[in-house]
Amino acid sequence: MEIKEKEKVQAAGIFGTVAETGHEQVVFCHDAHTGLKAIIAIHNTILGPALGGTRMWNYTSEQEALTDALRLSRGMTFKAAISGLNLGGGKAVIIGDANRLKTESFLRRFGKFVNSLNGKYITAEDVNMKTADMEYIAMETKHVTGLPVSMGGGGDPSPVTAYGVYLGMKAAAKKAYGRDSLAGKKIAVQGVGQVGAHLVEHLVKENAAVFVTDINDEKVKQVVTRFGVSAVGQLEIFDVDMDIFAPCALGATINDTTIPRLKCSVIAGAANNQLKDEIRHGYMLMDRNVTFAPDFLINAGGLMNVYEEYLGNYNSKRVFEQAEKIYTTCLGILDHASREKISTQESAILLAEKRIAEIGRLKMTR
Ligand code: NAD
Repeated sequence: MEIKEKEKVQAAGIFGTVAETGHEQVVFCHDAHTGLKAIIAIHNTILGPALGGTRMWNYTSEQEALTDALRLSRGMTFKAAISGLNLGGGKAVIIGDANRLKTESFLRRFGKFVNSLNGKYITAEDVNMKTADMEYIAMETKHVTGLPVSMGGGGDPSPVTAYGVYLGMKAAAKKAYGRDSLAGKKIAVQGVGQVGAHLVEHLVKENAAVFVTDINDEKVKQVVTRFGVSAVGQLEIFDVDMDIFAPCALGATINDTTIPRLKCSVIAGAANNQLKDEIRHGYMLMDRNVTFAPDFLINAGGLMNVYEEYLGNYNSKRVFEQAEKIYTTCLGILDHASREKISTQESAILLAEKRIAEIGRLKMTR
């Protein structure tokens, strides 16, 4: 977290910060025995229970973890709303080193905290939390989704997420270039984890020229060997001669430092909260004629997957069909933004807020 953001949280206090972001409830979970320190942020439950994954990360401070939980859970509210799902937005973060701390008792203790919220928050996997971890959480609560196929769940949601990102990228290409074909386009993918690697597969199938980077050299090696793409350095990725940038690692990579370096016409990727400052950086991109496909819209495939599982009778075909709608929704938002002369991020937020307000009113009607 930058000093400025830290100071902002300190000055506003926790309640001031939460009031500003519009959260309903923030729960701090602590267990001395297992070393569990987690924050569950419930942003909005007007459309339904707050569903959002649990991220485990070695945050450098508790404030950084709180900011991440608040930003991510708010994004989940918009993601569910714009995707037409009857879900609210929430997210949990666990503070600490996943390789060192994650044990059965640690995960089950977290499951007990989730259970104490009686279904107002439903958890799933996110960075450093896998389907196998959900199995332990499920021993303590039924308010968990993203379970392995062997337990009747939908399994790893990243293939559907990658498919949605791919379609969102095609919609953005159509807006920017007049054609949605990615053949011959130079595309730089930052982060080749679960989603990034699947995305690369779609891009290579369409004959795009793909450049990849990751902080994990082994993952880069695997993707380069499997798909014959080109590897570039972690910092170099922002300076690649490219048409499309696909951030698929962590958030806030589109910022004051990187925007002047990016030579692309389209940004479309899987990472949540790509814009460090969603208003200012959204407009900076608009001023530079860069078509930004809002992340919470195009990476909603994973949420669709876990929602389908939560409803029961999981059907993979139905989820992929639902994810196909991302193309049309994305084009609609990009067109709405240009008609209204607003940033694409703002356009997506406005449409999500409109649905929440309308359904909220409907729920109040007898
Ligand atoms: P992952 O942990 O499998 O992959 C992330 C990859 O990014 C890792 O390989 C990691 O080493 C790499 N990375 C981290 N920092 C980096 C940096 N500075 N430069 C280059 N690489 C870096 O996670 P994932 O499931 O593939 O998700 C990727 C992003 O998409 C995350 O932000 C996640 O929140 C978001 N997302 C994922 C899903 C899903 O279904 N998995 C759904 C919606 C959103």
